[in-house]
Amino acid sequence: MLKFNEPMSKHCSLRSGGTTSEFFQPTDIHKLSDFLKNNKKPVLMVGLGSNLLVRDRGFNGVSIQTKNLKDLSISKDLIESGAGTSLAKLSRFALAQLKYGAEFLSAIPGSVGGALAMNAGAFGSEIWQYVVSVKTMNLSGELQNRHPQDYEISYRSTLHRFKDEFFVSATFDFNLEEQNDHVGELLQKRNSTQPIGLPSCGSVFKNPKNHFAAELIEVSGLKGFCIGGACVSKKHANYIINQDNASAMDIENLIAHIQETIKKKHNIELETEIIIV
Ligand SMILES: Cc1cc2nc3c(=O)[nH]c(=O)nc-3n(C[C@H](O)[C@H](O)[C@H](O)COP(=O)(O)OP(=O)(O)OC[C@H]3O[C@@H](n4cnc5c(N)ncnc54)[C@H](O)[C@@H]3O)c2cc1C
Repeated sequence: MLKFNEPMSKHCSLRSGGTTSEFFQPTDIHKLSDFLKNNKKPVLMVGLGSNLLVRDRGFNGVSIQTKNLKDLSISKDLIESGAGTSLAKLSRFALAQLKYGAEFLSAIPGSVGGALAMNAGAFGSEIWQYVVSVKTMNLSGELQNRHPQDYEISYRSTLHRFKDEFFVSATFDFNLEEQNDHVGELLQKRNSTQPIGLPSCGSVFKNPKNHFAAELIEVSGLKGFCIGGACVSKKHANYIINQDNASAMDIENLIAHIQETIKKKHNIELETEIIIV
């Protein structure tokens, strides 16, 4: 389904941002491939928008949302998942098959594709630790098989040589001998320390070496500080909340203010984790 001038605030968990000139939700990878073969516009891949902000002036291209690419299957002890499957669903599916290791994913509100692009992680685990292979598609709509060694994977970052490829599915090996974490406990822990349920994108900044971004922001007195409708969460200082119809500009200005303050007070450069388009 192709839409025009779609507000990206509807598809990003910050509930803010401009429009995309075209918005496409393929129902399967064949439709996606056919679409790409005829597309000449710049492409923005969108999973569940839980780490994404489109600037107020919008994206002049096609945003492709993978939400419907959500096949899940198990074969020879390996789980294959479409890029659009939510991490919570993948985690539940793995547990139901008595496959252990995916529990930490239940605490991250993204899709498999977004998590691969970000090397998402929580509670000491990261998604790429469990990847056997991925299927990618290039901008000409052609499929490829890739492996972890094809990527440079580090803290919240996945770099690859194949710049015009994106993830359409992944095969995981969740075969720990026992559950790594108890899902209920993880969710309880997350809910008690993070402002869950309010519009945010999770942690805005990466933790600098030997520091926690949240701690630096908190000791700088920025908890609760607002610019326009965007505020630093009072519960978790590395979260920005869209408290009152924040524009993307409000959010970016608040990000810049935090970065300047931390640089001035601690001489540390905070790098953003959120992707701003
Ligand atoms: C309340 C909250 C808590 C969070 N907690 C955590 C946490 O504990 N740990 C953590 O790591 N993250 C956390 N996040 C951030 C976010 O959930 C993760 O980064 C997640 O992996 C993003 O997935 P997504 O599908 O929402 O990606 P999106 O936000 O849609 O996209 C993120 C990036 O991935 C790219 N992308 C999306 N799909 C694809 C694809 N198929 N192929 C290639 N590139 C793609 C996009 O272009 C963009 O650059 C949190 C967010 C929120 C709102």
